[in-house]
Amino acid sequence: MDEGIFIGVGGNSVGMIAVEAVIRKAEDALRSHPQIRGVVRSSLYITEPWGEEDQPPFLNAVFRLQTSLEPPDLLVYLKQLEGELGRVETYRWGPRVIDLDILLYGQRQWEDDLLTIPHKYLSERPFAFVPLLELEPDARLPQGQLLREMVRPIEDGEIKRVAEGLSG
Ligand code: ADP
Ligand code: MG
Repeated sequence: MDEGIFIGVGGNSVGMIAVEAVIRKAEDALRSHPQIRGVVRSSLYITEPWGEEDQPPFLNAVFRLQTSLEPPDLLVYLKQLEGELGRVETYRWGPRVIDLDILLYGQRQWEDDLLTIPHKYLSERPFAFVPLLELEPDARLPQGQLLREMVRPIEDGEIKRVAEGLSG
């Protein structure tokens, strides 16, 4: 089992309360997977849309877990879970019920047509690196740099932590 595998989760197209419910379902599914252990979830965060800005705000979080699934098998499972949780493809960076991304997989690197690890935009997307650093302030990239020293500055109001769940 590799230590410190981080999965980013987020969504926006169905309203934030519904996305919170979908994030909880994703957490339950990860917890009950026979090859996944030790699932921990960050706080929830409300973030402004990234890439394509003309859409509702996102609700995001990050899971830390351990798994014996190899990176491509983990990706296949996450895509399957997105489907089960009702993801409908729209347009690139457009609204979605749920998006599950592999952010870090321990200290491993991966690069092929379907999968890049660390996630290509990890240090540019506050909705990915802020919840990840909440779980693991000393997280390191595979080349050894501290993630917190590599991330871009956060603008005012760009990301807000939700102290309690939206729906309690
Ligand atoms: P995005 O996550 O960039 O908003 P998608 O979820 O539609 O967009 O992802 C598109 C493709 O990105 C996936 O089908 C997958 O093959 C690829 N991909 C590359 N690296 C990763 C990664 N680390 N985690 C998840 N998907 C990835
Ligand atoms: Mg994705």
